[in-house]
Amino acid sequence: MKDEALYQLFKLHEIDEQLITIKNRAEHLDLGKREKAAIKKVQADYAEDLSHYKELQTQLNTERIRADQAAEKIKKFNAQLYDGSVTASKEINNLTKEIQMLEEIGMDAELKIEQLEAENQSLSKRVSKINAKIEELESQSEAKRKQAEIDHVELKQAFAETGAKRSEREAAVRADILKIYNNARKLTGSTGLALITLQHRCQACGIDTPEKTREFVRDGKIQQCESCRRILFYREEAIES
Ligand SMILES: [Zn+2]
Repeated sequence: MKDEALYQLFKLHEIDEQLITIKNRAEHLDLGKREKAAIKKVQADYAEDLSHYKELQTQLNTERIRADQAAEKIKKFNAQLYDGSVTASKEINNLTKEIQMLEEIGMDAELKIEQLEAENQSLSKRVSKINAKIEELESQSEAKRKQAEIDHVELKQAFAETGAKRSEREAAVRADILKIYNNARKLTGSTGLALITLQHRCQACGIDTPEKTREFVRDGKIQQCESCRRILFYREEAIES
């Protein structure tokens, strides 16, 4: 077979191509980063709503505590007034005044609660929509991250399996050809062989290949692409072999 040497190189090139494909896939796994960025955008876009909502909850809580405390004290003082434990008129007066003051505080707190709740009602609808969107994005991102983890394990295994075949293939390639191939690999960052297309172009870089070059390639001679320096090869030669 006139192109046996080139064919051995083609077989090595196929392995390298597979390894590159696996590596590329591993590097471009979808980790759900786009969704994470979308969450940040939603949080930034609605930052005012979200912080206002939080503030409202704090205010509501404070007013509720104020109202409860006032009510509790009123209850206690009223009990003291009517259970006969307080009899001196001065003390009765003081307690009555205290109760009046507490009633004012309680009333004030209740009014504030009413206002805050009205505001909270419309805002909480908005905020729950925003939070639902964030949760949806979070679960999408998490699902992608998990899938990427699974894919990564598979790719790692595929890389190891394919890589295990490489040294055997490399050993079958003639040393002088291997040297040119490796130089082209370094130069291109991919493999060191390129097929010639039906349109007589280098499939890797797209440049035209001269007729003479193609003839040499058909004769099994080592010819490099003028542009990318890859060793040129005809796939049909590979299929025939
Ligand atoms: Zn080329």
